[in-house]
Amino acid sequence: MTDLLEFTHQTLAQRVLFGSGLAAANVAAEVDRLGADSVMVISGGHDNDFASRVAHQIKAVLLYEDVAAHVPIEKAEKARAAASEHGVDLLVCIGGGSAIGLAKAVALSSHVPIVAVPTTFAGSEATNVWGITEASRKTTGVDDRVLPVTVIYDAELTLSLPRELSIASGLNALAHCVDSLWAPRANPINAALASEGIRALSGGLLALNTNSASLRGREQTQYGAYLSAVAFASAGSGMHHKICHVLGGAYDLPHAQTHATVLPYVLAFNAPYAPEASSRISNALGASDAVDGLNQLRKRLHAPRALRDYGLKKADLPEAADLILSVIPHSNPRTVTRQDLLILLHAAWNGTEF
Ligand code: NAD
Repeated sequence: MTDLLEFTHQTLAQRVLFGSGLAAANVAAEVDRLGADSVMVISGGHDNDFASRVAHQIKAVLLYEDVAAHVPIEKAEKARAAASEHGVDLLVCIGGGSAIGLAKAVALSSHVPIVAVPTTFAGSEATNVWGITEASRKTTGVDDRVLPVTVIYDAELTLSLPRELSIASGLNALAHCVDSLWAPRANPINAALASEGIRALSGGLLALNTNSASLRGREQTQYGAYLSAVAFASAGSGMHHKICHVLGGAYDLPHAQTHATVLPYVLAFNAPYAPEASSRISNALGASDAVDGLNQLRKRLHAPRALRDYGLKKADLPEAADLILSVIPHSNPRTVTRQDLLILLHAAWNGTEF
């Protein structure tokens, strides 16, 4: 009976507009369609010209650029006050996960809808997950009101993302795909999205690695990043995301690079116990083995290698193992002990084979 299907799947309601060079026109069209009068544009700050142009074009009441990583509560409260003061009825956020995260914090308390224009491959735009940091502790939650009503993808906006950060961010998306194959709400629909996501991301990242200006490579990476985020939003956080959440939150490590570094270790740990997931991953990568396929891809991409390069101290590893052990999901295909985590973390810290 175990080969019969039984699962629950929830599809989140969202409009997606895709097209290189079309973001400004698509934002204006969405503002019209939604009948918004008082728009607040939140910009991640890397491309103020574009955000200013959009704000001017749609006659925004506010262009807001006070964005910081991990959405500190003080920044969230300030942005909420500004939105309320201006009677904002639509949030347009342009930037990576940090800018989208700030818009989500405003939406969480005000219920104002969001139009998201992502400029990295992190995928926050397609999830109903919010996160706010207070006293160095990041709290996350799920609320459909923070799910952007519309996502506008424009690969031209990612051209300014440096090659190294593009690769790390794309591997962050690839981690959403891999982890969604064994996360608590893993199901065949997420698995199908994840498989296509891995295929698109690996091809897109190889193309942009060869030529950072490759619009085709960046489009493929954005397309894969969207699929990865939809799969992740539905499947929830698996072992990989729990590890990265602890490392990012407790030791202030950079988000994309942490995901990119940890992924091969979690895959190597789980793969022998997850034959169906492994076969999907290897097929999507065009490799005969999932772990080897990912390692080959990472080599070609010159992917981030070691957590020690991002400020994690060796002395932090025992505490990190304790924190992670308490949040490993029951759905993980392999039982996880503290000793397992210590070995995995030491290898990821050193960048050594596992
Ligand atoms: P980020 O938004 O912090 O961006 C990283 C850096 O790149 C910043 O300095 C930013 O200004 C710059 N940048 C962004 N786009 C650029 C571009 N096109 N050109 C040049 N520079 C650019 O990083 P991120 O990885 O996109 O997002 C990380 C944050 O998002 C974390 O806080 C993470 O927890 C959150 N996140 C949330 C979800 C969710 O579902 N809620 C999903 C993924 C990530």
